[in-house]
Amino acid sequence: MTQIPLPDSAFLRNRDKRLLIDGTWVAPSGGGSFGAFNPATGERLADIAKATTDDVDRAVAAARRAFEGPWSRFTPADRQVLLLKIADLVESHAEELGTLETLDMGAPLARTSVSVRRVASRLRFYAGMAVTLHGETIANSQGADYFSYTLKEPVGVVGAIIPWNAPLSSAIWKLGPVLATGCTVVLKPSEEASLTPLRLGELMQEAGVPDGVVNILTGHGAVGAAIAAHMDVDKVAFTGSEATGRSIIQASAGNIKRLSLELGGKSANIVFADADMEEAVAGAAMACFSNSGQICSAGTRLFIEDAVHDEFVDRLCAFTRRLRVGNGLAPDTQLGPLVSQRQLDQVCRHLASGREAGVNVMCGGERLGGEAYDKGYFLSPTVLTGVEDSMEIARREIFGPVLSVMRFGSLDEVAARANGTTYGLGGGIWSRDVRKVHALARKLRTGTVWVNCYQVMDAAVPFGGYKMSGYGRESGIQQMDEYLNVKAVWIK
Ligand code: NAD
Repeated sequence: MTQIPLPDSAFLRNRDKRLLIDGTWVAPSGGGSFGAFNPATGERLADIAKATTDDVDRAVAAARRAFEGPWSRFTPADRQVLLLKIADLVESHAEELGTLETLDMGAPLARTSVSVRRVASRLRFYAGMAVTLHGETIANSQGADYFSYTLKEPVGVVGAIIPWNAPLSSAIWKLGPVLATGCTVVLKPSEEASLTPLRLGELMQEAGVPDGVVNILTGHGAVGAAIAAHMDVDKVAFTGSEATGRSIIQASAGNIKRLSLELGGKSANIVFADADMEEAVAGAAMACFSNSGQICSAGTRLFIEDAVHDEFVDRLCAFTRRLRVGNGLAPDTQLGPLVSQRQLDQVCRHLASGREAGVNVMCGGERLGGEAYDKGYFLSPTVLTGVEDSMEIARREIFGPVLSVMRFGSLDEVAARANGTTYGLGGGIWSRDVRKVHALARKLRTGTVWVNCYQVMDAAVPFGGYKMSGYGRESGIQQMDEYLNVKAVWIK
């Protein structure tokens, strides 16, 4: 692979990454660290501090002091101004943040640069939310002597635990509502991609976020587990796998903390014969392959109506073969590497189970190696046919660029099969017939349905799961309630 020089950034030159506790960047109490690696080259980018349970205690205590201290006197308008400043700083550092995210988790610059700009606009949405929070007066039936109203109050100290597949967006999806509602936070980025959340921490300090309001602890799952079990954390906002979500539910029992869980998916994307074929082919491919398949709501089960199945598969494979896989820093790259050797191995294991079960690999399915791909974790985007609903590959979340194509005959049949999963996060419908679209959109048991598009997101539109994809919503005014308690007040 042609060597692409690393950008010259002060943040990258300082390789020793610390923890942010109470407004100060400190070494972890145990002194440990682990590497941050570029998944396109295997190059070590930085040494990341490994937090201990003592560090979790210190960070939670700092968040509690801040929650009860000066931060509690910030007015909604003060918090709005702060969020707007952070948005401006994110925007003015967009190139640096986009490059850093590409280096740390592999997604192409074309994707990360757009995602940084979306993060800035998301922050402005939360800035608006900060000044719109309100309780209600309620007409009770206890007689004219009694007046009742509600107050909305911040839940308190939030533990925010995020994955690696979009670290900056995931961080803002938690920190935005924390700041808008007046909570404080201990953020735990993924061990696979900590750099953009850490740089964001610096920008938040520059914007004037008071000490202790945002604390950042890097480390592995044990750090997240200590946060989830901590008796002085009021709520955990988690994005990650179903297995970890389940252990967070268990760990949260100690103090019955509030939870919001954004978990995995196995979303169905359904193409009717009357769809615009060209749009549907590109849309169905990228619904699965964007971010190299490492998206929770990826459309990984593609259902094609019988009449167009064979032609569709031919066009889909032609489209897929043209996708350019490579180092995310190269301007023409469309798909980057998977995030780690572990992730690559996991996807390859799923593929092997599919091959054993008798699926047909129509294109892709190969690890890309040799000089052209350096030491990175590249897999060619893969289209499978002959997949049956009962196969492991059709039921388990793969989190890689692997698309299972299945045929269907009728709307009722495809609705039942689409819903035949434990998950319910995303889903797509491609059709020109508005009656089919309305009928099917209602039948799908999933948090989002995209029609003639896929993966469109907006800060104002709620996103979240049904069934084992989790509970709670991110984005939209609905998200604010996840970070607020409701207090009823009665006055005689
Ligand atoms: P993961 O569950 O392995 O890790 C997520 C985070 O949890 C990491 O920070 C990790 O260190 C931490 N963690 C691990 N064990 C823990 C424990 N016992 N207690 C507390 N924290 C713990 O997930 P991942 O591999 O980083 O991310 C991929 C998963 O995330 C996929 O399942 C994907 O679908 C899901 N995801 C969901 C959404 C969504 O919005 N629904 C978005 C992105 C990713």
